[in-house]
Amino acid sequence: MNLVPKRVSLFAVLSVLTCVLSCCLPTRFIFSNRNEYNWHQVESMTNIAPMVIVGSGPAGYSAAIYGARERIPTYVITGNEPGGLLTKTTVIENYPGQPAILGPELMKVMRSQAEHAGAHIIDDTVVKIDLNTWPFTVHTENGHTLNALNVILATGAKPKKLGIPGEEKYWGIGVSSCAICDASFYTKEEDVVVIGGGDSAAEEATQLAPHAGSVTILVRSATMRASQAMQDQLKGYENIHILYNVDVQEILGDGLKVTGVKLFDKSVNQVITKNTHGVFLAIGHEPNSELVRGVLKTNPAGYVEVIGRSQATSMEGVFAAGEIEDHDYRQAVVEAGHGVAAALGGMAFLKSKVGWNTARRDSLQAQERLFSTQPTAGELSNDGKVPEINSPEEFEAIKNNTWAILDFYTDTCPSCLQMMPAFEDVAREYKSQMYCAKVNADKAQALTKKFFVHRVPCLLVFNKGSLVARFTNAMTRKELDLFVQQFLKQ
Ligand code: NDP
Repeated sequence: MNLVPKRVSLFAVLSVLTCVLSCCLPTRFIFSNRNEYNWHQVESMTNIAPMVIVGSGPAGYSAAIYGARERIPTYVITGNEPGGLLTKTTVIENYPGQPAILGPELMKVMRSQAEHAGAHIIDDTVVKIDLNTWPFTVHTENGHTLNALNVILATGAKPKKLGIPGEEKYWGIGVSSCAICDASFYTKEEDVVVIGGGDSAAEEATQLAPHAGSVTILVRSATMRASQAMQDQLKGYENIHILYNVDVQEILGDGLKVTGVKLFDKSVNQVITKNTHGVFLAIGHEPNSELVRGVLKTNPAGYVEVIGRSQATSMEGVFAAGEIEDHDYRQAVVEAGHGVAAALGGMAFLKSKVGWNTARRDSLQAQERLFSTQPTAGELSNDGKVPEINSPEEFEAIKNNTWAILDFYTDTCPSCLQMMPAFEDVAREYKSQMYCAKVNADKAQALTKKFFVHRVPCLLVFNKGSLVARFTNAMTRKELDLFVQQFLKQ
């Protein structure tokens, strides 16, 4: 028998539901006020960017092509690694219409297609996004603030780390997650291991095999997860071996370089040590969703949740595409499709909620020019030259400088090439206080060996010829500035 009147019961249920939901989720997930998306609210503002795409992998560029072709001013903020993870792969044979194309080449073509369509590609990194008010504000490393009418998150994913002893200590001096960048540092006298059992592990092994003496794939299970096609490819390499049922417990070294790995062999319940000169991680990826965690709904692993078959997120006007939301397929062609769906969702949002139309587009023309003339790191590189040194003898000649920085790079390393203009710019700025030079690690092998450079980009800092610091990740212009200043202050 129901003793509670129906109206009270409904009220109680709604109250409880509201309370439970608002405890679990940030308020705007549920109470997004649709009336606040209104063109009149933004027409007097500057720096209006109708479509802002954060990230420049297949999802980002595909979204850009669609946005720009619709003549919506579309801005792609590329991030630290323009082109994303595909720039670190070799041949791609499963992208329709491209029977065999190098990853970096595919991304170059996508970028130029997006540019050709009219998208503005900004080589900069988003450091903060405020989604709590509309227009959304997107802040970049180089100090730009865009008032975004709609945002497409396409920041992709990054390689996971193991979190075991030795990993951080030897990162960049024997531990890496980019075989294509670092394989050429190894010789036939050196052995390397790849940790993981998926397609990435198989691919990294085949990238390393032509350089190293032997490559051993360390798989924690009894089988590899890699596709059959990739596993078949491995059979074609005599110097690739696979060890199953092993957990890597520690990366060993002599303080300067990697010397081995400590493994737990589960088939015999024994700890063993395997000598190796290099360790390559290929244990999967995690989403680059830090910018929106706690603001957008994400799953426990940090992937942004999208609604149904759309790319819409828990915040109206914000879309996500690619590996930031896709933990199932992770294929370039799938992510490209998701980018397209996100752009279509963004366009529908602009038209139906914001009141976007051709006249309003035309009123933004002047601003478009404003953005497109912002200097990018690439443009700054055109002035002045930074010297290049190639041998230990040339290094001897610069040893007397109080401070010197060498930037080791290779022509095949996308993050090196991305950082180079910023490095050159910093070199010019601190010319009177610090000697800066570039070192092509592929050509200057004696120098590379001398300083145990096993990963690029790699910045080495010298004080009167003594090595005092090493940094092995790409840095933005601002980070480089802070990096240099900390030494000059000493
Ligand atoms: P996956 O998630 O597919 O594989 C990760 C592998 O790492 C698994 O074998 C997993 O073991 C292992 N692993 C995870 N954590 C640990 C750990 N702590 N210690 C040891 N091993 C660990 O990631 P991938 O990066 O290989 O692939 C991601 C996606 O990208 C896939 O969809 C793949 O198909 C795609 N890809 C496609 C390529 C191509 O087509 N050319 C190339 C590279 C990737 P376990 O199996 O036991 O869980």
